Amino acid sequence: MEKQRIVILGAGESGVGAAILAQKQGFDVFVSDFGAIAGRYKETLVELNIAFEEKQHTVASIINANEVIKSPGIADSVSIIKELKKKNIPVISEIEFAKRYTTAKTICITGSNGKTTTTMLTYHILKKAGLNVGLAGNIGHSFAAQVATENFDWYVLEISSFMLDDMYDFRADIAVLLNITPDHLDRYDYKMTNYAASKMRIVQNQRPEDHFIFCADDEETLKALKSTKVNSQKCPFSIRKKVEGGAYLEGNNIHININPKDHLTMSISELALQGKHNIYNSMASGIVAKVLEIRNVTIRESMGDIKNIEHRLEHVAKISGVDYINDSKATNVNSTWYALESVNTDVILIMGGVDKGNDYDMLKDLVKQKVKAIVCLGKNNKRIHEAFEDDVEIIVNTFSANEAVQVAYHLATKGNTVLLSPACASFDLFKNYEDRGNQFKMAVKEL
Ligand code: ADP
Repeated sequence: MEKQRIVILGAGESGVGAAILAQKQGFDVFVSDFGAIAGRYKETLVELNIAFEEKQHTVASIINANEVIKSPGIADSVSIIKELKKKNIPVISEIEFAKRYTTAKTICITGSNGKTTTTMLTYHILKKAGLNVGLAGNIGHSFAAQVATENFDWYVLEISSFMLDDMYDFRADIAVLLNITPDHLDRYDYKMTNYAASKMRIVQNQRPEDHFIFCADDEETLKALKSTKVNSQKCPFSIRKKVEGGAYLEGNNIHININPKDHLTMSISELALQGKHNIYNSMASGIVAKVLEIRNVTIRESMGDIKNIEHRLEHVAKISGVDYINDSKATNVNSTWYALESVNTDVILIMGGVDKGNDYDMLKDLVKQKVKAIVCLGKNNKRIHEAFEDDVEIIVNTFSANEAVQVAYHLATKGNTVLLSPACASFDLFKNYEDRGNQFKMAVKEL
């Protein structure tokens, strides 16, 4: 029988991982990337003798595929994807593909904000509890590559809406939806309902024995739930009201009551990850841990000793009485809101970059209360000036991390906080948010 042909579009972490697994499963594999392929990925492809092309998509070599695996970075509006859809060739994500070849159970974490934090925290708890668990998805090593080479019983997967869009038969044993707030609307026809529907795909195919963990304080989630059939056990979490079969906050204590005989109580002062948003993230991780019947003492210990996660409200230094915080991963308005909310001093806010159709209105109150000056760090800062010119006296444009830090340094006085929390993507001036955060940290260390 002729070999089935799998074509992989995009040769980054997920694409090359998918290629490794597809080759192991005996497919005829071809990888195509419209850009240049990074050195280390090219080496892997050459070493494994996997056919590939870069800086082009040769249509004839792609539309003869039985199935196509697409990198989450490629939008559906790209012409090759349109062509594939016209020909009814299935286009799936690396996650969908890899799940076919593993019996490991999956904990899938999605949401507009807090995915990485909650994924890392959940992984940390499970690992400390001694489970044979892997970490994958939008984070670390590709899921497919690990399915090909490892033998985990559990995976904690960080799942973006772009991945969910190309997932069909995939089923999460435990699904976590942290929140739904506007992000990436450029890829969803600027319609919130489209984006929310994409996020709700996290529960598709779930069965009654599975779990769905969600934020009962999140309006968009509640709205989306009204039009979604959920077959699994619903576990809500809230900091506003007492809930059953989930987690809630009472005073300063988190309560997790999914198992009436084994209630977990923990003070928020014991949490290593501070800030209101991290109470939510901790509740979500805590429920996962209790579903897996991990001991309370292990959960408390893990939540108390997880290390600060890089680029997420990461404290960099205190210089002349001024705190410098790197929150480069805040690439949308909602995450910047939480960052500002968590700071209790006057702030010099460094923000800007690629605006994905942001609505800055929700930031206005906090900016008025706390922000002394805004240092814009982006090629085009017009929208930030327009949004805040009536609220903040000083708004300055800068075009490098170094310049931004220098300007912030001069504007800050003892007791202030310099906060890099851009509310925008980084691609205008930086390679990615890590690059932006690293350059910020370097500039701070040189002060
Ligand atoms: P993601 O992986 O979804 O982008 P991260 O865990 O990397 O999320 O956090 C990104 C930023 O979002 C953080 O720097 C923080 O400011 C903010 N954040 C984290 N968790 C939440 C949450 N539950 N709700 C709102 N904002 C959050």
